[in-house]
Amino acid sequence: MGKKSMGELFRVKTKGRFRLEDCDPGWDRIQEIRGMGGDDVGNKARSFMEKSLKTLAEAQELLWASDTCSILMVLQAMDAAGKDGVIKHVMSGVNPQGCQVFSFKAPSAEELDHTFLWRCMKALPERGRIGIFNRSHYEEVLVVRVHPELLERQKLPPGRRGGSFWKERYEDINAFERHLVRNGTVVVKFFLHLSKGEQKERFLARLRDPRKQWKFSHADLEERELWDDYQKAYDDAIRATSTPWAPWYVIPADRKWVARAAVAGILVDTIRSMRLSFPAVGEEQRRELGRAEKQLAGE
Ligand code: ATP
Ligand code: MG
Repeated sequence: MGKKSMGELFRVKTKGRFRLEDCDPGWDRIQEIRGMGGDDVGNKARSFMEKSLKTLAEAQELLWASDTCSILMVLQAMDAAGKDGVIKHVMSGVNPQGCQVFSFKAPSAEELDHTFLWRCMKALPERGRIGIFNRSHYEEVLVVRVHPELLERQKLPPGRRGGSFWKERYEDINAFERHLVRNGTVVVKFFLHLSKGEQKERFLARLRDPRKQWKFSHADLEERELWDDYQKAYDDAIRATSTPWAPWYVIPADRKWVARAAVAGILVDTIRSMRLSFPAVGEEQRRELGRAEKQLAGE
């Protein structure tokens, strides 16, 4: 059996029945990845990551120069799964001018006065840029599904909030993403899949380490109590919104280096698949460049 790319391993298939419980948060068989091998797996992962970051930086320059497409990276996860670390590492090599991060919190009064996609629409990356959604429109079928009382604040027209209500939300999300893709925004969605046991370890580390205590919030424990409800909401949402135009990747997140290497590798492959090229210089422009060169050289 040949080695696979990160994308092939973790991309959710649009055919067949997806089940989150079939995905292992502790996966670390990184030697099965194309471009990776040998005994010292930790070292390999680091050099794979370095290579990916370098390629990502080059790819980003191309994206910027071509000025037609953009990339939207959606990042969803339970608390302490490492979203911040992924953003920091993956973006450490790119030009800050070409990349933007938006963190979505509970919606403001102004945001609640609009439909749920409004604030996401406003935060989309411009052409040429990589935009990261740290949480996203998916919260509307995750936290809001787990806490249906949040819906009451959304000032929606009257109606039932049963299965068909959520189905319509998935449909709206799929249509929104298809619109983006058709108009030049490539959409890549990552779910950092953490196990409940590893979340406990990370929360304990936060409680015990004075440099991490500021990160702890009691609300995180309350959400942890609802772990199973969240897993079910993720399971349903990922199944309903894995589309050929906007794939989900379920990334094993119990080991931070696995998650970071996987996201970096998949981003690189995504940009490569866009087959971008530097804008072509026309005949007239070439003549102008020649004149400018002569003028400068003759100074
Ligand atoms: P970290 O805890 O690592 O700083 P975070 O993404 O968890 O990052 P918080 O400020 O802790 O950031 O949490 C943001 C909260 O906002 C989350 O609990 C999330 O569920 C909530 N949220 C985001 N979008 C919505 C939404 N559309 N409706 C209701 N709650 C939302
Ligand atoms: Mg949080």
